Amino acid sequence: MTTTPQTVGPQLVEALEQAVTPAAVLAEPFALHEFSHDRSFHHWEPPEAVVRPRSTAEVAAAVRVCADFGVPVVPRGAGTGLEGGANTTGESVCIDLSRMDAVLEVAADDMYARVQAGVMKSALNAAAAGHGLHFPAGPGVDASIGGMAATSASGTMAVSCGTVADNVLRLTAVLGDGSVITTGSAAPKTSAGYDLTRLLVGSEGTLGIITEVTVRLHPVPEEVAMGIWTMPSLQAAAELVVTGLRAGVRFSRVELLDATTVEALRGYRGFSAPPAPTLMVEFAGAAGEAAALYRRFTALAEKAGAAEHSAAEDPDDVGRLWQVRHDALPAALALVPGASALPTDVCVPISQLPANVIQARRDVEELGLTAPIVGHVGDGNFHVAILLPPGDEQAAERAAELNRRLVDRALAAGGTCTGEHGIGAGKIASLAAEHASALPAMRAIKAALDPHGIMNPHKVLPSRSA
Ligand SMILES: Cc1cc2nc3c(=O)[nH]c(=O)nc-3n(C[C@H](O)[C@H](O)[C@H](O)COP(=O)(O)OP(=O)(O)OC[C@H]3O[C@@H](n4cnc5c(N)ncnc54)[C@H](O)[C@@H]3O)c2cc1C
Repeated sequence: MTTTPQTVGPQLVEALEQAVTPAAVLAEPFALHEFSHDRSFHHWEPPEAVVRPRSTAEVAAAVRVCADFGVPVVPRGAGTGLEGGANTTGESVCIDLSRMDAVLEVAADDMYARVQAGVMKSALNAAAAGHGLHFPAGPGVDASIGGMAATSASGTMAVSCGTVADNVLRLTAVLGDGSVITTGSAAPKTSAGYDLTRLLVGSEGTLGIITEVTVRLHPVPEEVAMGIWTMPSLQAAAELVVTGLRAGVRFSRVELLDATTVEALRGYRGFSAPPAPTLMVEFAGAAGEAAALYRRFTALAEKAGAAEHSAAEDPDDVGRLWQVRHDALPAALALVPGASALPTDVCVPISQLPANVIQARRDVEELGLTAPIVGHVGDGNFHVAILLPPGDEQAAERAAELNRRLVDRALAAGGTCTGEHGIGAGKIASLAAEHASALPAMRAIKAALDPHGIMNPHKVLPSRSA
């Protein structure tokens, strides 16, 4: 399916202004730049126009105009994506959801919230906090709920509270022909028909635009206990987590930092842990539970040769320590002044994690790259921030080779080319390698929900000629 824009320029802008409102449409070149790319280094061009709707009806009206003109539509949440999913091309229209920022309902007894897609995770958590609830799924960086659903994001708390996909109950979305659908329900579970909620989650704007999301909320735990443990090796760190999980030690979060990451955080944040493979662990629960889990973990950790570097129980101290972890990407970038980063992630069955992380470390060294590794090690997911030093022409090629090796090894281990960052523009070949047999079914779904082929084209699915 190809898209051939019939007319772009003033007529398109005028039609968008009439369909939505003039104030919601930006077309001045200086205004377009900030809406044209995410946090990746993938190619982008400023779009033809940006539409900033406030309601589902306005999104639908804008999509219908784009369908009439045959113009590609690129949805945008907060633009924190790492695979170029929100990057625009010159003939596209960006639909920026950031003004759809209303928390519509917090149903405390039913433990869900209904929000417009542009609501940021921090804003949802602020609204839920008064009810003793929170939305723990998703990345450490602040992002929109719609963008998190669209990328099937997850983060440090997936090991205990699930991924964003696990926490989305219901969606409202505008499809590629401008029609509006609602999927799922507010009930905790459903077996009513095809699971279109799960289909739209992770579709990265290629099937429709999510405008409203109902998400599960979780109780804020009474007690947390956190520790930072220095490990004798990466192998020992990954194996300790597998042992803990198998022994039923309920981690609230468990993160692996390799020695390069710790080095980066020491320089960036004054992190005082020794530059060695490190585990950050957290336990949570009712009074007494977190401390009891921590003691059980301590016994296993000591047997594995781990040394406790620090521990915290005060929620503010715990929050500060996790902020250190969430700064891993900027800290990595600060290792090489002026560098840009190719951040990539893969996910494998947990028992395969040690071998995959260790081989990744060897590949980094063999290819002469600087690339800190961190992992949501409790769910088999690890990230490599491959640095591209300024002026090093060959670094991008070596980084691409490293990325290929990571993906090939993850697939050979029964894993996936991305556990949470998504496919976007950067991992299309990897998706084709992972799901060759399912591509025709994926294309059929795309054609059914996006009959004009306008929804975020050239993302996720490979072109037929590829
Ligand atoms: C420092 C840093 C750390 C990160 N850590 C993590 C992490 O731990 N885990 C993780 O999963 N991700 C992580 N990310 C990546 C990013 O935060 C997530 O992918 C996030 O879910 C993107 O949300 P967003 O609102 O920024 O979406 P955007 O970047 O704006 O868009 C992402 C994709 O979703 C589409 N999209 C956005 N909104 C909608 C919508 N309403 N309807 C349909 N499609 C839409 C876009 O077209 C694009 O394809 C990190 C990013 C940074 C910069």
